[in-house]
Amino acid sequence: MALNSVTVRVPAKVNLQLSVGPRESDGYHNLVSVFQAVSIYDEVTLTKSHPGSGVTIAVTGDQTHGVPEDDSNLAVKAAKLVGTKFDFDVDVHIEVKKSIPVAGGMAGGSADAAGTLVAMDALYKLEATREELFALGAELGSDVPFMISGGTAVGTGRGDQLTAALSRGTYHWVFALSTVGLSTPSVYAECDRMRAELEVAAPKVSDALMQSLLAGDAQAVGRALHNDLQGPACSLRPALSLVLEVGRDYGALGALVSGSGPTVAFLVADEEAGLDLAVALTASGVVGSVARATGPVHGARVL
Ligand code: ATP
Repeated sequence: MALNSVTVRVPAKVNLQLSVGPRESDGYHNLVSVFQAVSIYDEVTLTKSHPGSGVTIAVTGDQTHGVPEDDSNLAVKAAKLVGTKFDFDVDVHIEVKKSIPVAGGMAGGSADAAGTLVAMDALYKLEATREELFALGAELGSDVPFMISGGTAVGTGRGDQLTAALSRGTYHWVFALSTVGLSTPSVYAECDRMRAELEVAAPKVSDALMQSLLAGDAQAVGRALHNDLQGPACSLRPALSLVLEVGRDYGALGALVSGSGPTVAFLVADEEAGLDLAVALTASGVVGSVARATGPVHGARVL
């Protein structure tokens, strides 16, 4: 029987390393990004609709503020892109049940795009290869290929050329969430402004981080966490420095702004330490809400 509906679960990401090269003439930056997929998930359900109805979308769940329900939603763009590439009319309704914080530096929009690509492949039995899905993903955004693959990976170029990274063990995270997002372009612009007079080197993968991941040494991973966008994000949102400090004071193994922020990620030793830190952050009054998660987890998967 032909499938009418497919649901895909897709995780959020945290950057263990985000190193930003100089601004290129086209305005972009070469990056080295070490991604880890973490267990906060959006669910993307695609249901075939009547011929001629096109692509429609509804966004539900506990993280919907600021997410467009029109053609500018990355999930809609993903569905349409598949129709264009495989040359067929797409009549599909997309429901995105969001738990990934919006504009939080956790790649929620990219996750929904990745989930939609995987769901389109299953719903229309396209049998696209992994490489084809990655290439479609890269057209939609540099984080999209990673949200398809999940796990732990190094992204180079614009962050979209992926190599799997060897990582042992499970890592426990606490995320301090902000109610108001930060726009990624504004954080890059602040980064350029702060570096205007500086000579910026080409980004390179941190050996210390790779060795710590290989050894499964959470303490060493905590020490090796690094994000070049942390300074710019804190410059735009000074309260983030305070959040970082509170987490470090309460014994986090490592703390950094996730991606372009404003989510702050704390690596902790185990589940119990995560619970303690979550309580401490909430009690401190400097954090709106917290989420706990583990990583690495799989990328976009049909349920
Ligand atoms: P990144 O970590 O990749 O920089 P982010 O996590 O900071 O991204 P997103 O949650 O992806 O940010 O959202 C950024 C903006 O993209 C939102 O404010 C919203 O306007 C737009 N957007 C488009 N489609 C989506 C979607 N499916 N989910 C969330 N935001 C979307």
